[in-house]
Amino acid sequence: MNVHDSEQLAAIMTEAGFERTEDVNQAQVILVNTCSIREKVAQKIISQIGRYRQLKENNPDLVIGVGGCLAQHWGPSLLKKNVGVDLVFGTHALDKAPEMIRRVQKRGGAIVDTAFRAGITSLNIRPRPTNGNLQAFVTIMQGCDNFCSYCVVPNLRGKEESRPSQDIINEIKVLVAHGIKEVTLLGQNVNSYGKGLGGGIRFSDLIKSIDSIDGLERIRFTTSHPKDLTDDLINRFGKLGKLCEYIHLPFQAGSNSILERMNRGYTREDYLARVERLREVCPDIAVSSDAMVGFPGETTADFEATLEMMEIIRFDNLFSFKYSEREGTKAVSLDQKVPEKEKSRRLNLLQELQDRHTLERNKAMVGRTVGVLVEGISKNSSKDMMGRTRTNKIVNFRGSEKLHGKIVNMHITAAYLHSLRGELS
Ligand code: SAH
Ligand code: SF4
Repeated sequence: MNVHDSEQLAAIMTEAGFERTEDVNQAQVILVNTCSIREKVAQKIISQIGRYRQLKENNPDLVIGVGGCLAQHWGPSLLKKNVGVDLVFGTHALDKAPEMIRRVQKRGGAIVDTAFRAGITSLNIRPRPTNGNLQAFVTIMQGCDNFCSYCVVPNLRGKEESRPSQDIINEIKVLVAHGIKEVTLLGQNVNSYGKGLGGGIRFSDLIKSIDSIDGLERIRFTTSHPKDLTDDLINRFGKLGKLCEYIHLPFQAGSNSILERMNRGYTREDYLARVERLREVCPDIAVSSDAMVGFPGETTADFEATLEMMEIIRFDNLFSFKYSEREGTKAVSLDQKVPEKEKSRRLNLLQELQDRHTLERNKAMVGRTVGVLVEGISKNSSKDMMGRTRTNKIVNFRGSEKLHGKIVNMHITAAYLHSLRGELS
Protein backbone atom coordinates (compact mmCIF):
# COMPACT_ATOMS: atom_id res chain seq x y z
CA MET A 1 0.00 0.00 0.00
CA ASN A 2 2.78 2.38 0.87
CA VAL A 3 4.61 1.67 -2.37
CA HIS A 4 1.40 2.50 -4.18
CA ASP A 5 1.10 5.75 -2.20
CA SER A 6 4.63 6.68 -3.29
CA GLU A 7 3.68 5.99 -6.92
CA GLN A 8 0.59 8.16 -6.51
CA LEU A 9 2.66 10.93 -4.98
CA ALA A 10 5.17 10.73 -7.84
CA ALA A 11 2.29 10.95 -10.33
CA ILE A 12 0.71 13.88 -8.49
CA MET A 13 4.04 15.73 -8.54
CA THR A 14 4.58 15.03 -12.24
CA GLU A 15 1.07 16.18 -13.10
CA ALA A 16 1.78 19.39 -11.19
CA GLY A 17 4.82 20.06 -13.37
CA PHE A 18 7.67 18.78 -11.18
CA GLU A 19 10.34 16.65 -12.81
CA ARG A 20 11.89 13.58 -11.28
CA THR A 21 15.64 13.36 -10.67
CA GLU A 22 17.66 10.32 -9.66
CA ASP A 23 20.39 12.55 -8.23
CA VAL A 24 19.57 13.80 -4.76
CA ASN A 25 22.14 16.62 -5.12
CA GLN A 26 20.16 18.04 -8.03
CA ALA A 27 16.83 17.96 -6.22
CA GLN A 28 14.94 21.14 -5.33
CA VAL A 29 12.40 19.11 -3.36
CA ILE A 30 12.88 15.87 -1.42
CA LEU A 31 9.79 14.00 -0.24
CA VAL A 32 10.09 11.09 2.19
CA ASN A 33 7.04 8.82 2.28
CA THR A 34 6.80 6.86 5.51
CA CYS A 35 5.10 3.70 6.75
CA SER A 36 4.89 2.70 10.38
CA ILE A 37 2.88 -0.48 10.37
CA ARG A 38 5.49 -2.61 12.09
CA GLU A 39 9.09 -1.65 12.69
CA LYS A 40 10.30 1.21 14.72
CA VAL A 41 11.38 3.18 11.71
CA ALA A 42 11.17 6.58 13.40
CA GLN A 43 14.84 6.91 14.26
CA LYS A 44 15.90 5.70 10.82
CA ILE A 45 13.76 8.36 9.17
CA ILE A 46 15.01 11.15 11.42
CA SER A 47 18.62 10.33 10.54
CA GLN A 48 17.75 10.03 6.83
CA ILE A 49 16.17 13.50 6.95
CA GLY A 50 19.23 14.72 8.85
CA ARG A 51 21.41 13.62 5.92
CA TYR A 52 19.15 15.45 3.45
CA ARG A 53 19.31 18.55 5.64
CA GLN A 54 23.05 18.73 5.05
CA LEU A 55 22.27 19.29 1.37
CA LYS A 56 20.70 22.60 2.39
CA GLU A 57 24.19 23.98 3.05
CA ASN A 58 24.84 24.04 -0.69
CA ASN A 59 21.23 24.51 -1.68
CA PRO A 60 19.38 26.74 0.82
CA ASP A 61 16.16 26.65 -1.25
CA LEU A 62 15.84 22.88 -0.94
CA VAL A 63 12.39 21.87 0.39
CA ILE A 64 12.19 18.72 2.51
CA GLY A 65 8.76 17.14 3.02
CA VAL A 66 7.69 14.11 5.04
CA GLY A 67 4.46 12.31 4.25
CA GLY A 68 2.54 9.13 5.07
CA CYS A 69 1.81 7.31 8.31
CA LEU A 70 4.64 8.63 10.44
CA ALA A 71 3.96 12.17 9.32
CA GLN A 72 0.33 11.61 10.28
CA HIS A 73 1.42 10.32 13.65
CA TRP A 74 4.04 12.98 14.38
CA GLY A 75 2.23 15.98 12.95
CA PRO A 76 3.66 19.35 14.04
CA SER A 77 5.91 17.67 16.61
CA LEU A 78 8.12 16.66 13.69
CA LEU A 79 8.98 20.32 13.17
CA LYS A 80 10.08 20.57 16.78
CA LYS A 81 12.54 17.75 16.23
CA ASN A 82 14.40 20.41 14.29
CA VAL A 83 15.79 18.23 11.55
CA GLY A 84 15.16 20.69 8.74
CA VAL A 85 11.70 19.60 7.63
CA ASP A 86 9.64 22.22 5.75
CA LEU A 87 6.50 20.25 5.12
CA VAL A 88 4.57 17.52 6.95
CA PHE A 89 1.68 15.97 5.00
CA GLY A 90 -0.55 13.22 6.34
CA THR A 91 -2.13 10.24 4.62
CA HIS A 92 -5.07 12.30 3.31
CA ALA A 93 -3.00 15.18 1.96
CA LEU A 94 -1.00 13.52 -0.84
CA ASP A 95 -2.76 15.56 -3.50
CA LYS A 96 -2.05 18.77 -1.60
CA ALA A 97 1.73 18.27 -1.67
CA PRO A 98 2.54 20.30 -4.83
CA GLU A 99 0.55 23.33 -3.69
CA MET A 100 2.12 23.23 -0.22
CA ILE A 101 5.61 22.94 -1.70
CA ARG A 102 4.99 26.01 -3.83
CA ARG A 103 3.77 27.90 -0.79
CA VAL A 104 6.93 27.00 1.12
CA GLN A 105 9.08 27.96 -1.89
CA LYS A 106 7.36 31.34 -2.14
CA ARG A 107 6.99 32.36 1.44
CA GLY A 108 9.29 30.13 3.46
CA GLY A 109 8.23 28.78 6.85
CA ALA A 110 6.93 25.30 7.53
CA ILE A 111 3.53 23.78 6.73
CA VAL A 112 1.73 20.88 8.40
CA ASP A 113 -1.40 19.19 7.03
CA THR A 114 -2.55 16.06 8.81
CA ALA A 115 -6.31 16.57 8.52
CA PHE A 116 -8.53 13.59 7.69
CA ARG A 117 -10.84 14.33 4.76
CA ALA A 118 -13.88 12.57 3.38
CA GLY A 119 -14.19 12.15 -0.37
CA ILE A 120 -10.90 10.39 -1.19
CA THR A 121 -9.83 13.19 -3.48
CA SER A 122 -6.23 12.07 -3.68
CA LEU A 123 -7.27 8.64 -4.95
CA ASN A 124 -8.72 10.08 -8.09
CA ILE A 125 -5.29 10.90 -9.39
CA ARG A 126 -3.53 7.81 -10.62
CA PRO A 127 -0.11 7.04 -11.89
CA ARG A 128 0.11 6.27 -15.59
CA PRO A 129 1.83 2.98 -16.36
CA THR A 130 5.18 3.44 -18.00
CA ASN A 131 7.69 1.33 -19.89
CA GLY A 132 5.51 -1.60 -20.77
CA ASN A 133 4.16 -2.31 -17.27
CA LEU A 134 1.54 -5.03 -17.36
CA GLN A 135 0.32 -4.78 -13.79
CA ALA A 136 -1.17 -1.91 -11.82
CA PHE A 137 -2.62 -1.35 -8.38
CA VAL A 138 -6.00 0.32 -8.14
CA THR A 139 -7.15 1.67 -4.80
CA ILE A 140 -10.82 0.90 -4.21
CA MET A 141 -11.10 2.13 -0.65
CA GLN A 142 -9.09 3.87 2.01
CA GLY A 143 -8.89 3.66 5.79
CA CYS A 144 -10.16 0.92 8.07
CA ASP A 145 -12.90 0.63 10.71
CA ASN A 146 -11.76 -2.61 12.25
CA PHE A 147 -9.44 -1.67 15.09
CA CYS A 148 -7.49 -4.89 15.42
CA SER A 149 -5.84 -4.30 18.78
CA TYR A 150 -2.26 -4.28 17.42
CA CYS A 151 -2.80 -2.09 14.38
CA VAL A 152 -2.07 1.59 13.72
CA VAL A 153 -3.87 1.76 10.38
CA PRO A 154 -7.26 3.07 11.65
CA ASN A 155 -5.45 5.79 13.64
CA LEU A 156 -3.25 6.86 10.77
CA ARG A 157 -5.37 6.33 7.68
CA GLY A 158 -8.74 7.27 9.07
CA LYS A 159 -12.21 5.86 8.56
CA GLU A 160 -13.07 3.37 5.87
CA GLU A 161 -14.32 4.97 2.67
CA SER A 162 -15.11 3.26 -0.63
CA ARG A 163 -14.54 4.85 -4.00
CA PRO A 164 -17.54 5.02 -6.32
CA SER A 165 -17.45 1.96 -8.56
CA GLN A 166 -17.74 4.00 -11.75
CA ASP A 167 -14.51 5.87 -10.86
CA ILE A 168 -12.75 2.56 -10.34
CA ILE A 169 -14.02 1.11 -13.61
CA ASN A 170 -13.07 4.26 -15.52
CA GLU A 171 -9.60 4.16 -14.03
CA ILE A 172 -9.13 0.52 -15.04
CA LYS A 173 -10.27 1.28 -18.58
CA VAL A 174 -7.64 4.02 -18.81
CA LEU A 175 -5.01 1.65 -17.46
CA VAL A 176 -5.98 -1.05 -19.98
CA ALA A 177 -5.71 1.52 -22.78
CA HIS A 178 -2.13 2.12 -21.57
CA GLY A 179 -1.29 -1.59 -21.85
CA ILE A 180 -2.17 -2.86 -18.38
CA LYS A 181 -3.32 -6.50 -18.37
CA GLU A 182 -3.59 -7.21 -14.68
CA VAL A 183 -5.02 -5.13 -11.85
CA THR A 184 -4.76 -5.64 -8.12
CA LEU A 185 -7.62 -3.95 -6.27
CA LEU A 186 -6.29 -2.43 -3.07
CA GLY A 187 -7.85 -1.76 0.30
CA GLN A 188 -7.26 -2.68 3.93
CA ASN A 189 -10.43 -4.73 3.94
CA VAL A 190 -11.72 -5.08 0.40
CA ASN A 191 -14.54 -7.42 1.45
CA SER A 192 -16.38 -4.57 3.08
CA TYR A 193 -16.23 -2.49 -0.11
CA GLY A 194 -19.43 -0.57 -0.78
CA LYS A 195 -20.28 0.30 2.82
CA GLY A 196 -21.59 3.86 2.83
CA LEU A 197 -21.82 4.15 -0.97
CA GLY A 198 -25.53 3.52 -1.13
CA GLY A 199 -27.11 1.37 -3.83
CA GLY A 200 -26.17 -1.84 -2.03
CA ILE A 201 -23.11 -2.55 -4.17
CA ARG A 202 -20.91 -5.31 -2.77
CA PHE A 203 -17.30 -6.19 -3.55
CA SER A 204 -18.47 -9.25 -5.49
CA ASP A 205 -20.60 -6.93 -7.70
CA LEU A 206 -17.65 -4.64 -8.33
CA ILE A 207 -15.48 -7.57 -9.39
CA LYS A 208 -18.18 -8.81 -11.74
CA SER A 209 -18.31 -5.41 -13.45
CA ILE A 210 -14.52 -5.26 -13.72
CA ASP A 211 -14.48 -8.76 -15.19
CA SER A 212 -16.34 -7.47 -18.23
CA ILE A 213 -13.73 -4.82 -19.13
CA ASP A 214 -12.36 -5.64 -22.59
CA GLY A 215 -8.61 -6.07 -22.84
CA LEU A 216 -8.12 -6.72 -19.13
CA GLU A 217 -6.82 -10.24 -18.50
CA ARG A 218 -6.43 -10.70 -14.79
CA ILE A 219 -7.95 -9.41 -11.55
CA ARG A 220 -6.44 -9.81 -8.09
CA PHE A 221 -7.28 -8.07 -4.84
CA THR A 222 -5.78 -7.50 -1.43
CA THR A 223 -6.42 -7.55 1.49
CA SER A 224 -9.36 -9.73 2.41
CA HIS A 225 -10.54 -9.86 5.97
CA PRO A 226 -11.71 -13.37 6.92
CA LYS A 227 -14.65 -12.07 8.96
CA ASP A 228 -16.13 -10.34 5.89
CA LEU A 229 -15.36 -13.00 3.29
CA THR A 230 -18.89 -13.91 2.27
CA ASP A 231 -20.15 -16.68 -0.03
CA ASP A 232 -21.13 -14.25 -2.79
CA LEU A 233 -17.46 -13.40 -3.23
CA ILE A 234 -16.19 -16.95 -2.77
CA ASN A 235 -18.62 -18.08 -5.46
CA ARG A 236 -17.00 -15.76 -8.01
CA PHE A 237 -13.83 -17.86 -7.99
CA GLY A 238 -13.65 -20.31 -10.85
CA LYS A 239 -16.64 -18.56 -12.47
CA LEU A 240 -15.34 -15.15 -13.50
CA GLY A 241 -12.79 -15.68 -16.25
CA LYS A 242 -10.45 -12.86 -15.20
CA LEU A 243 -10.52 -13.38 -11.44
CA CYS A 244 -7.27 -15.18 -10.63
CA GLU A 245 -7.28 -18.33 -8.52
CA TYR A 246 -5.43 -16.64 -5.71
CA ILE A 247 -6.43 -15.08 -2.41
CA HIS A 248 -4.45 -13.34 0.31
CA LEU A 249 -6.36 -14.01 3.53
CA PRO A 250 -4.47 -13.04 6.69
CA PHE A 251 -5.18 -15.38 9.63
CA GLN A 252 -2.70 -13.79 12.11
CA ALA A 253 -2.92 -16.55 14.73
CA GLY A 254 -4.25 -20.05 15.25
CA SER A 255 -5.47 -19.74 18.82
CA ASN A 256 -8.95 -18.44 19.59
CA SER A 257 -7.89 -16.63 22.74
CA ILE A 258 -5.19 -14.74 20.81
CA LEU A 259 -7.59 -13.95 17.96
CA GLU A 260 -9.96 -12.53 20.54
CA ARG A 261 -7.25 -10.43 22.16
CA MET A 262 -6.38 -9.20 18.67
CA ASN A 263 -10.04 -8.25 18.13
CA ARG A 264 -10.07 -10.01 14.78
CA GLY A 265 -13.76 -10.90 14.81
CA TYR A 266 -13.43 -14.57 13.73
CA THR A 267 -12.40 -17.86 15.29
CA ARG A 268 -9.96 -20.46 14.09
CA GLU A 269 -12.95 -22.61 13.08
CA ASP A 270 -14.47 -19.76 11.04
CA TYR A 271 -11.20 -19.30 9.21
CA LEU A 272 -10.79 -23.00 8.43
CA ALA A 273 -14.38 -23.16 7.16
CA ARG A 274 -13.76 -20.20 4.82
CA VAL A 275 -10.69 -21.84 3.30
CA GLU A 276 -12.51 -25.14 2.97
CA ARG A 277 -15.33 -23.40 1.13
CA LEU A 278 -12.88 -21.58 -1.16
CA ARG A 279 -11.24 -24.89 -2.06
CA GLU A 280 -14.60 -26.56 -2.65
CA VAL A 281 -15.60 -23.85 -5.11
CA CYS A 282 -12.16 -23.55 -6.68
CA PRO A 283 -9.86 -26.52 -5.98
CA ASP A 284 -6.86 -24.85 -7.67
CA ILE A 285 -6.96 -21.70 -5.59
CA ALA A 286 -3.66 -20.60 -4.04
CA VAL A 287 -4.00 -19.20 -0.54
CA SER A 288 -1.47 -16.88 1.05
CA SER A 289 -1.68 -15.29 4.46
CA ASP A 290 -0.16 -13.08 7.16
CA ALA A 291 0.73 -14.39 10.61
CA MET A 292 2.15 -12.79 13.70
CA VAL A 293 4.12 -14.40 16.52
CA GLY A 294 4.63 -13.17 20.06
CA PHE A 295 1.42 -11.24 20.53
CA PRO A 296 1.00 -10.38 24.25
CA GLY A 297 -0.23 -13.45 26.09
CA GLU A 298 0.79 -15.91 23.35
CA THR A 299 1.76 -19.10 25.20
CA THR A 300 3.70 -21.97 23.68
CA ALA A 301 0.39 -23.78 23.23
CA ASP A 302 -1.10 -20.76 21.40
CA PHE A 303 1.92 -20.63 19.14
CA GLU A 304 1.61 -24.35 18.44
CA ALA A 305 -2.01 -23.75 17.44
CA THR A 306 -0.69 -21.37 14.76
CA LEU A 307 1.68 -24.04 13.44
CA GLU A 308 -1.15 -26.56 13.52
CA MET A 309 -3.36 -24.27 11.42
CA MET A 310 -0.53 -24.03 8.91
CA GLU A 311 -0.28 -27.84 8.82
CA ILE A 312 -4.00 -28.12 8.13
CA ILE A 313 -4.18 -25.40 5.48
CA ARG A 314 -0.73 -25.59 3.88
CA PHE A 315 -0.53 -22.05 2.58
CA ASP A 316 1.15 -21.35 -0.74
CA ASN A 317 2.90 -18.41 0.85
CA LEU A 318 2.97 -16.68 4.21
CA PHE A 319 4.15 -13.25 5.32
CA SER A 320 5.16 -13.56 8.95
CA PHE A 321 6.03 -10.96 11.53
CA LYS A 322 7.12 -10.60 15.12
CA TYR A 323 4.49 -8.60 16.98
CA SER A 324 5.76 -5.07 17.46
CA GLU A 325 4.14 -2.63 19.83
CA ARG A 326 2.60 0.44 18.18
CA GLU A 327 1.87 3.55 20.16
CA GLY A 328 -1.82 4.40 20.36
CA THR A 329 -3.09 0.82 19.89
CA LYS A 330 -5.02 -1.21 22.45
CA ALA A 331 -2.48 -4.01 22.60
CA VAL A 332 -0.02 -1.66 24.31
CA SER A 333 -2.00 -2.09 27.54
CA LEU A 334 -2.15 -5.90 27.32
CA ASP A 335 -0.06 -7.81 29.83
CA GLN A 336 2.15 -10.92 29.41
CA LYS A 337 4.49 -9.51 26.81
CA VAL A 338 6.58 -12.13 25.01
CA PRO A 339 10.37 -11.59 25.20
CA GLU A 340 12.10 -10.60 21.95
CA LYS A 341 14.29 -13.70 21.95
CA GLU A 342 11.27 -15.97 22.21
CA LYS A 343 9.55 -14.09 19.38
CA SER A 344 12.58 -14.68 17.18
CA ARG A 345 12.64 -18.38 18.07
CA ARG A 346 8.94 -18.73 17.18
CA LEU A 347 9.34 -16.78 13.95
CA ASN A 348 12.19 -19.06 12.84
CA LEU A 349 10.15 -22.19 13.52
CA LEU A 350 7.17 -20.79 11.68
CA GLN A 351 9.21 -19.73 8.67
CA GLU A 352 10.93 -23.13 8.44
CA LEU A 353 7.55 -24.83 8.39
CA GLN A 354 6.24 -22.41 5.78
CA ASP A 355 9.25 -22.99 3.54
CA ARG A 356 8.44 -26.71 3.59
CA HIS A 357 4.82 -26.01 2.67
CA THR A 358 5.67 -23.50 -0.06
CA LEU A 359 8.03 -25.96 -1.67
CA GLU A 360 5.46 -28.73 -1.39
CA ARG A 361 2.73 -26.57 -2.97
CA ASN A 362 5.11 -25.50 -5.75
CA LYS A 363 6.15 -29.11 -6.42
CA ALA A 364 2.51 -30.07 -6.83
CA MET A 365 2.56 -27.90 -9.96
CA VAL A 366 5.22 -30.01 -11.70
CA GLY A 367 3.80 -31.86 -14.70
CA ARG A 368 0.87 -29.45 -15.08
CA THR A 369 0.28 -27.04 -17.95
CA VAL A 370 -0.84 -23.57 -16.92
CA GLY A 371 -1.30 -20.09 -18.39
CA VAL A 372 1.55 -17.68 -17.71
CA LEU A 373 1.51 -13.92 -18.28
CA VAL A 374 5.00 -13.11 -19.57
CA GLU A 375 6.40 -10.11 -17.70
CA GLY A 376 9.96 -9.78 -18.97
CA ILE A 377 13.52 -11.05 -18.77
CA SER A 378 14.19 -13.37 -15.84
CA LYS A 379 16.12 -12.02 -12.87
CA ASN A 380 18.11 -15.27 -12.72
CA SER A 381 19.44 -15.36 -16.27
CA SER A 382 19.36 -12.97 -19.20
CA LYS A 383 18.71 -15.97 -21.46
CA ASP A 384 15.43 -16.67 -19.73
CA MET A 385 12.08 -14.95 -19.56
CA MET A 386 9.80 -14.85 -16.54
CA GLY A 387 6.09 -14.71 -16.03
CA ARG A 388 3.45 -15.40 -13.42
CA THR A 389 0.74 -18.01 -13.11
CA ARG A 390 -2.79 -17.03 -12.16
CA THR A 391 -1.95 -18.49 -8.75
CA ASN A 392 0.79 -15.83 -8.44
CA LYS A 393 3.80 -18.12 -8.82
CA ILE A 394 6.85 -17.00 -10.76
CA VAL A 395 7.88 -19.18 -13.71
CA ASN A 396 11.24 -18.91 -15.48
CA PHE A 397 11.55 -20.36 -18.97
CA ARG A 398 13.56 -20.24 -22.19
CA GLY A 399 11.72 -17.95 -24.58
CA SER A 400 11.87 -14.84 -26.67
CA GLU A 401 11.38 -11.25 -25.54
CA LYS A 402 8.63 -11.03 -28.14
CA LEU A 403 6.41 -12.92 -25.70
CA HIS A 404 6.31 -9.93 -23.35
CA GLY A 405 2.70 -9.21 -22.41
CA LYS A 406 1.36 -12.46 -23.86
CA ILE A 407 -0.35 -15.24 -21.96
CA VAL A 408 1.34 -18.50 -22.95
CA ASN A 409 0.72 -22.13 -22.04
CA MET A 410 3.54 -23.45 -19.92
CA HIS A 411 4.42 -27.00 -18.95
CA ILE A 412 5.90 -26.90 -15.44
CA THR A 413 9.06 -28.99 -15.24
CA ALA A 414 10.61 -28.12 -11.87
CA ALA A 415 9.74 -26.34 -8.63
CA TYR A 416 11.84 -24.40 -6.14
CA LEU A 417 11.06 -22.35 -3.06
CA HIS A 418 10.67 -19.02 -4.84
CA SER A 419 9.90 -20.01 -8.41
CA LEU A 420 8.95 -22.67 -10.95
CA ARG A 421 10.70 -23.74 -14.13
CA GLY A 422 8.65 -24.28 -17.27
CA GLU A 423 8.72 -25.05 -20.97
CA LEU A 424 6.48 -23.47 -23.55
CA SER A 425 3.92 -25.97 -24.71
N1 SAH B 1 -5.55 -4.88 6.54
C1 SAH B 1 -4.82 -6.05 6.44
C2 SAH B 1 -3.39 -5.97 6.90
C3 SAH B 1 -2.65 -4.73 6.97
S1 SAH B 1 -1.12 -4.75 7.78
C4 SAH B 1 -5.50 -7.13 7.26
O1 SAH B 1 -6.29 -6.87 8.14
O2 SAH B 1 -5.19 -8.26 7.04
C5 SAH B 1 -0.28 -6.14 7.09
C6 SAH B 1 0.15 -7.11 8.12
O3 SAH B 1 1.08 -6.54 9.01
C7 SAH B 1 -0.95 -7.62 9.02
O4 SAH B 1 -1.70 -8.64 8.42
C8 SAH B 1 -0.20 -8.12 10.23
O5 SAH B 1 0.17 -9.47 10.08
C9 SAH B 1 1.05 -7.24 10.23
N2 SAH B 1 1.00 -6.28 11.34
C10 SAH B 1 0.17 -5.24 11.49
N3 SAH B 1 0.42 -4.60 12.65
C11 SAH B 1 1.44 -5.26 13.24
C12 SAH B 1 2.16 -5.10 14.47
N4 SAH B 1 1.85 -4.15 15.33
N5 SAH B 1 3.16 -5.97 14.74
C13 SAH B 1 3.47 -6.95 13.87
N6 SAH B 1 2.82 -7.15 12.73
C14 SAH B 1 1.82 -6.32 12.40
FE1 SF4 C 1 -5.23 -3.10 10.67
FE2 SF4 C 1 -7.09 -4.89 11.24
FE3 SF4 C 1 -7.68 -2.82 9.70
FE4 SF4 C 1 -6.10 -4.73 8.78
S1 SF4 C 1 -8.25 -4.97 9.37
S2 SF4 C 1 -5.77 -2.56 8.62
S3 SF4 C 1 -4.97 -5.33 10.58
S4 SF4 C 1 -7.13 -2.75 11.85
